[in-house]
Amino acid sequence: QIQIKRERSLEEDNQSYFWIKSEGEKKLATENLVPGNQVYKEKLIIKKGVEYRLWDAFRSKLAAAIMNDLEYFPFENKSKVLYLGASTGTTVSHISDIVGPSGIIFGVEHASRVARDFLDRVASYRSNIIPILQDARKPKEYFSVFGKVDIVYVDIAQPDQTQIALDNCEMYLKKGGYFFLVIKTRSIDVTKSPRRIIEEETEKLKANFDILQSIDLYPYDKDHAMVIAKYKN
Ligand code: SAM
Repeated sequence: QIQIKRERSLEEDNQSYFWIKSEGEKKLATENLVPGNQVYKEKLIIKKGVEYRLWDAFRSKLAAAIMNDLEYFPFENKSKVLYLGASTGTTVSHISDIVGPSGIIFGVEHASRVARDFLDRVASYRSNIIPILQDARKPKEYFSVFGKVDIVYVDIAQPDQTQIALDNCEMYLKKGGYFFLVIKTRSIDVTKSPRRIIEEETEKLKANFDILQSIDLYPYDKDHAMVIAKYKN
């Protein structure tokens, strides 16, 4: 017996992600924008003619944040997102399901090795993804980003990632927009505790952002935390 519970996002009548009860377990899922298409061998479940893709919290830090009680979920139908560190597109593909055909995700990735999979397996099937094969350190060079975005999501695992993220927000995030920053607590400085690293990184945001939540992604991911912030008006 599969039960589907709809999770509401900020806009009341907008669907975002779903909880599918399957074999006694509550599983996170998104409605597949490209029915029949799998991105990372995730399970597909059809219910009442609608196909859902299970969203694996061990493979996607955004899913891990939801599992660990993320309180803010601004991704919704028609959202415009700038995503830094698209990699092979696992998380981007679920955001693509959520924002739908009228939404848009600019996915920035600089490593050609993973970018090829991102293009071949994800972006080529999904018209709402615009791949940008560039260095996130040079936001002025993303010629395909137009206007401001509702959300900037950053997962690039660089020692100076917070500064890179801030430069991107300054150029592309609308005032009042949301900022999701994945902090790799062990790569920035191995001698510091994860809590200290999160505090230091969020301190750098406070001039321009209201910090909404910071989430430890354990047990889905042992080395990362996610900080959610809102761009001040
Ligand atoms: N967010 C992905 C997901 O959930 O599916 C995983 C991202 S992975 C941890 C980090 C990615 O950031 C890598 O693919 C890496 O090549 C990319 N990256 C690192 N530095 C970058 C930079 N300066 N510009 C663009 N991409 C970068």
